[in-house]
Amino acid sequence: MSGFPPAVEAALAGFSLPATLGFGIVPGPVMFNARYEDGSWSDGELLPYGEISILPTARSLQFAETIFEGTKAYLGDRDTPHLFRPDLNLVRFRASAQRIGMPPVPEALFMDGLKAVVSASADFIPRETGSSLYLRPFLFSTEPGFAPLNSSRFRFMITTSPSGPYTSGDMKVMIERRDVRAARHGIGYAKTGGNYAAAMRSTSLAVAEGYTVSLWLDPEERRFVEELSGMNLFAVVEGALVTPPLSDTILPGVTRRSILDLARMMGLTAREEPIAIDALVQAVKDGSCTELFACGTAAIIAPVVEIGESGGARLEIPERRIADALRADLLAIQERRAPDPFGWTVDVQRRDLSERSIRAS
Ligand SMILES: *Cc1c(COP(=O)(O)O)cnc(C)c1O
Repeated sequence: MSGFPPAVEAALAGFSLPATLGFGIVPGPVMFNARYEDGSWSDGELLPYGEISILPTARSLQFAETIFEGTKAYLGDRDTPHLFRPDLNLVRFRASAQRIGMPPVPEALFMDGLKAVVSASADFIPRETGSSLYLRPFLFSTEPGFAPLNSSRFRFMITTSPSGPYTSGDMKVMIERRDVRAARHGIGYAKTGGNYAAAMRSTSLAVAEGYTVSLWLDPEERRFVEELSGMNLFAVVEGALVTPPLSDTILPGVTRRSILDLARMMGLTAREEPIAIDALVQAVKDGSCTELFACGTAAIIAPVVEIGESGGARLEIPERRIADALRADLLAIQERRAPDPFGWTVDVQRRDLSERSIRAS
């Protein structure tokens, strides 16, 4: 490794992969940083991973003026790392910014930031199947003040985490019939902290009852299935895949989109259509719904083995055949162990970044 600023070189030289990684637990040695002030973006820079200073009254802390993304870089047995559909993360990151009224990060800054952290970290991307370098781009305001207005100062950062497979165990979902995660015309489709704040109490109660996570229903009638707190949801009903259609209360997952495309290529029927919760519960009872699974970048696909009420009845879901098949095929494409018929993966060249400032545009 050569050509990075001395502090970055030292961080890279001083880092080695621990024997056990977990998911998203071990911070990678470098991070990316760019600033936005009064209408324009600074160039980006690589920094050693570490603490940042922010004023206690920064609006990101006071008012959740903050958005994020999650994606992965893979290495496998190759020399060149690659990303999976970062273009969709960019589109969603910009849509999230727009909804909160924050300045969308320019395409070149977002992509160069991802490439910079991935190429600098290439020696620390675990190679085992299911492992990856988890990447967390985020944008937050740094301007202090209690005026509940959009700020004029922001930071765009990307942190990394060399990760093993995500292990949530078998998922058990609790139907949330009281709280709502996202309001109509609200921020549910944006990847922003406020949605997670809205979900946390329910998740904690679900976990206390032995469930893994809450299953959210529509905010108006609590009649239709939406998604989980951080993952989208599919049901297998009479052999067909069904997932709720996107709306302003559902996060448009990259994994969800990819599963729809892949399933159709595998010859499965895949539909986006409303799923009434009572009909779903009935379908599990009478055996016409054979599988339920969650999907997201971290877990990829996680079978749901149980669905139930808070303090009430629980139903087991015995099968996981289609979920497992989809997971295996999707992961093989993501890791480039199988051909990539959709052109979803993008190489990141290892290169000396020293002569190239990471331009804002
Ligand atoms: C990130 C997220 C997902 C999954 O999106 P992916 O792009 O597949 O990782 C689903 N729901 C919510 C609420 C999320 O924040």
